Amino acid sequence: MTTSSLEAAIRSNLQEVRARIAGAAADAGRRPDDVRLIAVSKTFSPAHVRAAAAAGQLDFGENRVQEALDKIGASADLPLHWHLVGHLQSNKARKAVGAFTCIHSVDSVDLLEKLDRAAADQGVRINALLQLNLAGEATKSGAAAPELDRLLEATEKCKAIAVTGLMTLPPFVDNPEDARPFFRQLRQLRDRHRSGSVPLGELSMGMSHDLEVAVQEGATMVRIGTAIFGPRHV
Ligand SMILES: *Cc1c(COP(=O)(O)O)cnc(C)c1O
Repeated sequence: MTTSSLEAAIRSNLQEVRARIAGAAADAGRRPDDVRLIAVSKTFSPAHVRAAAAAGQLDFGENRVQEALDKIGASADLPLHWHLVGHLQSNKARKAVGAFTCIHSVDSVDLLEKLDRAAADQGVRINALLQLNLAGEATKSGAAAPELDRLLEATEKCKAIAVTGLMTLPPFVDNPEDARPFFRQLRQLRDRHRSGSVPLGELSMGMSHDLEVAVQEGATMVRIGTAIFGPRHV
């Protein structure tokens, strides 16, 4: 694909995704601006990131630290925000802290403490979300809902990392309506805890096939890959 046809394709996909978000926000009486679109560029090239940036997309998500660092380096001239949406191993905490605006996948007290120490050492402040595995799927990372209290308690001691909300990846279902109970549960957990000492606001939920349902249930960040960049081949 030439640069201009890649750009045209991604621009049109982005328009479609933004229209879907706006439609779902309207259904729920919400403002489209209250939903941040994160373009998940994993497996795609730096040229894809540039093409999306040319269409006004500034937030990008990756699920592997090293792959992200390569793309961050290749787009250092652009004012982009990078989100880590995939599982983070504790031994990569130091690298992750310097690279991302927000880490969506904090799911243990150990990881939270390592990130906080790394951020403090490097003199940076970063945002993080607590990832919950609401269906208890063995194949997915994320803490179980009852662990949330312990995670929030640990959060209060953090100096350099600010926990701003919750994230979930529901079981993959053909019918997006079947994901609704998980999105709703995440919102209810957020609402129940938001008046505590940790001001939880963000809800990172919704992907290409179920973003409408997630936005109707209150998503403030949607993580969209396929609908913007096309199918992944690896
Ligand atoms: C890949 C990925 C996405 C994007 O998924 P699509 O179905 O391609 O939109 C969102 N969130 C996470 C955590 C991912 O790993």
